Amino acid sequence: MALLQISEPGQSLDPHQRRVAVGIDLGTTHSLVASVRHGVAECLPDEQGKVILPSVVRYLDPAQGGAGRQIGHDALSAQAQDPANTISSVKRLMGRTRAQVADVEKLSYDVVDADGMAVVKTVAGNKTPMEVSAEILATLRFRAEDSFDDDLFGAVITVPAYFDDAQRQATKDAAQLAGIEVLRLINEPTAAAIAYGLDNGAEGVYAIYDLGGGTFDVSILRLTQGVFEVLATGGDSALGGDDYDQALAAWVLEQAGQGAGALDASDRARLHREARRVKEALSGEDVESETFAVNLSSGTAIGQAVTPGEFESCTKPLTDRTMRAVRKVLRDADVDAQDIKGVVLVGGSTRMPVIRRTVGEFFGQTPLTNLNPDEVVALGAAIQANALAGNSQEGDLLLLDVIPLSLGIETMGGLVERIVPRNSTIPTALAQDFTTYQDGQTAMSLHVVQGERDLVADCRSLAKFTLRGIPPMAAGAARIRVTFTVDADGLLSVAAKEQISGVEASIEVKPSYGLSDEQIASMLQESFATAEEDMAARAVVEARVDGQRMIVATQSALTADAGLLSEKERQNIDERMKVLQAFLDNQAASAAEIEAATESLAKGTEAFAAMRMNKGIQQALSGRKVEEV
Ligand code: ADP
Ligand code: MG
Repeated sequence: MALLQISEPGQSLDPHQRRVAVGIDLGTTHSLVASVRHGVAECLPDEQGKVILPSVVRYLDPAQGGAGRQIGHDALSAQAQDPANTISSVKRLMGRTRAQVADVEKLSYDVVDADGMAVVKTVAGNKTPMEVSAEILATLRFRAEDSFDDDLFGAVITVPAYFDDAQRQATKDAAQLAGIEVLRLINEPTAAAIAYGLDNGAEGVYAIYDLGGGTFDVSILRLTQGVFEVLATGGDSALGGDDYDQALAAWVLEQAGQGAGALDASDRARLHREARRVKEALSGEDVESETFAVNLSSGTAIGQAVTPGEFESCTKPLTDRTMRAVRKVLRDADVDAQDIKGVVLVGGSTRMPVIRRTVGEFFGQTPLTNLNPDEVVALGAAIQANALAGNSQEGDLLLLDVIPLSLGIETMGGLVERIVPRNSTIPTALAQDFTTYQDGQTAMSLHVVQGERDLVADCRSLAKFTLRGIPPMAAGAARIRVTFTVDADGLLSVAAKEQISGVEASIEVKPSYGLSDEQIASMLQESFATAEEDMAARAVVEARVDGQRMIVATQSALTADAGLLSEKERQNIDERMKVLQAFLDNQAASAAEIEAATESLAKGTEAFAAMRMNKGIQQALSGRKVEEV
């Protein structure tokens, strides 16, 4: 049967052919789906009219012949009754091992490691974080398909700016399990900026403060000519409203003279729920106090009035932590608080008056809050999805994100050659040329590392691969171009290509586990603290590598052409080689000493090199046809 062409490729689609593209905020606590309809982004409601889907999945005992699982509100209601099989905050486990999950022992369910990642033990067997997230994503996908009565073309899914490769990859895998085509992963704060249409506003530098249920992100964006650039991102992927709940519950228990030791899992779930209710009630206008009331399994009844002031003071360390991250990200972006043109508050936890006040005071201005803070991220993602699906009339919105830590490769002597510097905007592709170290070297192993330190040993190893089939050449003759490509989702691939022969090898970097924020923070801290030390160490290592290379080259030249030298010339070279070797063998030798000895050997072999070159040319010319030369 012949195909009928109904529209030119690339032409804009008529309204009936619009592709259904959605933005999904896959939150720690809540998830939402939004889409652009009639030019306006809006969150899609479920059958009950609710737009928020609690990010909670409960697995039922298959032996009971149960339907399998409950998702969202039903699961949330069942949490206190069946905490061990009801999974909330699964986002904290994405792309992590058990050891990397902050406060893992405080979760109401059992987390174990299987196949190198954290998984949840349930009555229905082990569940990976990707499977659990896929349940949430699929629920939102069906909601969108029902609402448009059409298949989903694709989705933009948001992730915290601090998510590393492994966490982003896990999110993509979850989407795939849910049968969703991922148009792009974008950072949550970035999505919020789009939702506020900051791109239509005044040019300048903006701060996005996003305090959700389980994550805190702060980003500094610069808007120039309708284009956003993320200057820096920071935050803490294990700090959010949940921690405020925990802090409040702990304070109430203390007031009631209750130790936390006697609590069982269902007590903890009940306390958490009540803490959250009280916290949210205290955000209301002119609330003087709210009663925290819970009956524990032990029979103890707790009833404690909490005032806004008491709540603020028992959670102050958490609020202070967010402000420390704000100051740090401003330093990273190299801007002052006064230079910030606008501040956007995102995430349900920014409804807390103490947050609005603290952030407002710090920046000396009233933050933007007119959009619903729970919905902002999904709305921005929807606008981006609409553009990526080719539905939007306006030109594509260009958004640039950054990578949190530098990427580079290991070079001789265990040094790091940085190829993509920290806070580079992505997507990006950067290349650098390297060469072989030894004559006739036919393979080169590449070691991809992440971090700010100069020595490989102090950075994090991401991947190793080998480039083989380099044609044998003199040391330093091969040209190996190493290209780092970081795609718009923040995923890295590294390719190496020998330019003369064209042989190449590449690797996609999907680390099996991620780094915690504390690790990122401490790696950065160390790199600042040790910059001087590193530089000195680097200079010594570099001098050693150069010196060693000089000796290897001289030895190989002597093996080939010692006959060109007189006795005296030979002695002179040997002498200088011995001096250099002595410095190389001495661990205490300074960079300057090694460099001077290397320089001296180089000088001493200059005449020899010239003789060899002449000999080479003569050899090439004699006894050969012209075409061969
Ligand atoms: P996430 O992005 O992590 O899924 P959300 O942005 O949906 O989180 O925020 C959820 C958090 O916001 C929860 O900790 C919730 O208790 C908190 N929250 C929602 N409304 C309020 C409120 N009125 N006052 C204080 N906290 C609130
Ligand atoms: Mg959020």
